[in-house]
Amino acid sequence: MTTANLLDFDLAGLAAFCERLGEKRFRAVQLFRWIHQKGASRFDDMTDLARSLREKLPGVCEIRPLKVMAQQESTDGTIKWLFDVGDGNAVEAVFIPEDDRGTLCVSSQAGCAVGCRFCSTGHQGFSRNLSTGEIVAQLWFAEHFLRKHLKTSERVISNVVMMGMGEPMQNYSALVPALKVMLDDHGYGLSRRRVTVSTSGVVPMMDRLAQDVPVALAVSLHAPNDELRDNLVPLNRKYPLAELMAACLRYLPAAPRDFITFEYCMLDGVNDQPEHAQQLLALIRGQGPFYRGPSVPCKINLIPFNPFPDSGLRCSPRPVVLAFAEVLHAAGIVTTVRKTRGDDIDAACGQLAGDVLDRTDAARRMAERRVTEVRPVRVLRSPS
Ligand code: SAH
Ligand code: SF4
Repeated sequence: MTTANLLDFDLAGLAAFCERLGEKRFRAVQLFRWIHQKGASRFDDMTDLARSLREKLPGVCEIRPLKVMAQQESTDGTIKWLFDVGDGNAVEAVFIPEDDRGTLCVSSQAGCAVGCRFCSTGHQGFSRNLSTGEIVAQLWFAEHFLRKHLKTSERVISNVVMMGMGEPMQNYSALVPALKVMLDDHGYGLSRRRVTVSTSGVVPMMDRLAQDVPVALAVSLHAPNDELRDNLVPLNRKYPLAELMAACLRYLPAAPRDFITFEYCMLDGVNDQPEHAQQLLALIRGQGPFYRGPSVPCKINLIPFNPFPDSGLRCSPRPVVLAFAEVLHAAGIVTTVRKTRGDDIDAACGQLAGDVLDRTDAARRMAERRVTEVRPVRVLRSPS
């Protein structure tokens, strides 16, 4: 029998585990606090646990960290870790310090099966889902490493974004308990507003997340019409814009904020023209050809494309990004342009590559799509 990894459990799961060992629920709370609030990895250190329990635990379970293969620090204070997850796979997590917050960007899969054109992880293909324990271990390690590093006993990470490698909604059963650990007052005690799941648009799981753990939601849009989005985010062929917009509306009543964040990666000559901005407005107002319905309360986050080798794409020039933002802004849509952080260590959005034992032949498929699918910009005009 393999030893249980206590990082795999949310509090309810740990309570059930303790019960199977003949222990009371409050023991689970104690253990959980030792692990997540104090960063303990050895049962001997958990001084207020009954000695009998401390002696029982090592035979049946452990706190299994991820092996750190590399740590890189950017000149802007961003820190990136590469974690070994076995079998030739490695995933990355990134800490981004800002004046008023500390954000950890966490990976959910080794690779990604969605295969977006502009994403380095997508180009690597998919190896496997991370377990809950492997998702939580990134936060557990980073938080307690940073406390030591910064010589503080205060919490360092205030925000988590599921924006590292992988599509979190395609690893839903591991994601949910991991989110619960992040939110639990006996765990990391993060507010629901400060934990964000980013998705390329797995519609059924958006509905389930609203029921199970309604945290903040970011939707990676990247295109204002189905033809372009089919090309950039292949999942659009399964869940086209009309379905995606309707799912955003359904999510909102449960969401901790009264808007959805739409992410839009700015690609030179591909999706960054004034006509695209107009189409995007029509889309979110529910007045375009791709979605008709109530307008979707949202903020738009424009992400300058972060290049990586062989992408075949370029970032939109700064004036183009600003002009695009201005069209949205003038129409009353809150629009931000994301500051690029950590690009000197390849830690910016979409540059996370880790190491993935590709089981999906992504490199060949991407190469084929580059030849057959990238057309010159063609703007579909909306009727308005
Ligand atoms: N799979 C999820 C979360 C991980 S990607 C998703 O797609 O939402 C996190 C964000 O980085 C997404 O908005 C994604 O579209 C964006 N991104 C991916 N590659 C990028 C690149 N090369 N430059 C800028 N942003 C990128
Ligand atoms: Fe996967 Fe997100 Fe990258 Fe698309 S952008 S390939 S969904 S990680």
